Amino acid sequence: MHVTFLGTSGAVPTTMRNPSAVMVRREGERFLFDAGEGTQRQMMRFSTGFAVSHVFVSHLHGDHVLGLPGLIQTWDFNDREEPVAIHTPAGTRRRIRDLITVTGNEPSFPVRVNEVSPGDVALDGGEFEVRAFETDHRATSVGYAIVEDDRKGRFDREKAEEELGIEPGPEYSKLHNGESVELDDGTVVQPEQVVGPPRPGRRVVYTGDTCPTEGVVEAAVDADLLIHDATFAEDRRERAGQTGHSTAKQAAEIANRAGAKRLALTHVSTRYAGQSGRLEDEAREVFDGEAVLPDDGDELDVPFPDGEDGD
Ligand SMILES: [Zn+2]
Ligand SMILES: [Zn+2]
Repeated sequence: MHVTFLGTSGAVPTTMRNPSAVMVRREGERFLFDAGEGTQRQMMRFSTGFAVSHVFVSHLHGDHVLGLPGLIQTWDFNDREEPVAIHTPAGTRRRIRDLITVTGNEPSFPVRVNEVSPGDVALDGGEFEVRAFETDHRATSVGYAIVEDDRKGRFDREKAEEELGIEPGPEYSKLHNGESVELDDGTVVQPEQVVGPPRPGRRVVYTGDTCPTEGVVEAAVDADLLIHDATFAEDRRERAGQTGHSTAKQAAEIANRAGAKRLALTHVSTRYAGQSGRLEDEAREVFDGEAVLPDDGDELDVPFPDGEDGD
């Protein structure tokens, strides 16, 4: 999985940072998490590709959705035919529809708007799910977790062939799929003899705007990457609480409690323009894993927990 930070600013854009948007590419599919104003131009700037199949909206504050009308209009100009699904918190379908048709134009490709509540599976992708979870902001809001299924254990070909004398062939895939196999001499080989334990999939979690909250801890258990609201530094902790946001340190505490491996701080207030390293430092002081504060256009690769690369 590859994550591109398209917009890392909180509330309003700056010359250096666009409002919220994160692109996740997974095995050729593109998912967009929020779409602040100018998101389509960021996609061009950072060459992420344009063929997004699912948009996941955390909440309907302008800095998270005002990029949608422009993006959809451009898809329309480009004669897009493929459908797109927009996942959005329960009760906001009408406003998303209004946003899409605000120019009086109905897109010529299908746009499905899917309302989700915490606990719902927004997208069932077969070997992975995108689940909505509870966040705590001053609006109806959800976060999203991409959760991959466990992968099959490693197949020990050498042992199968040399120790157990199984010829390469259909028996290999049977064993790898968990079935036992009977050899010509009557010996029965169990899958455990040649297949290692299941290998965990990846988990990438996007909070959108939120105060520190239990819902995030639960969603981000053992996450490979947690992308968390870090609007403020500790000097504005009170302000963070009042506005439904988190400080970088609070994000780090949540990441620790969840046991997340990596933390990406985002939605940075304009007051820290040019000194965002301060937020990174405050998070690093408490976070046991690796904390980063990405700039617009920064990319993170998310390898499998066993270290294996993968799209
Ligand atoms: Zn926001
Ligand atoms: Zn907000």
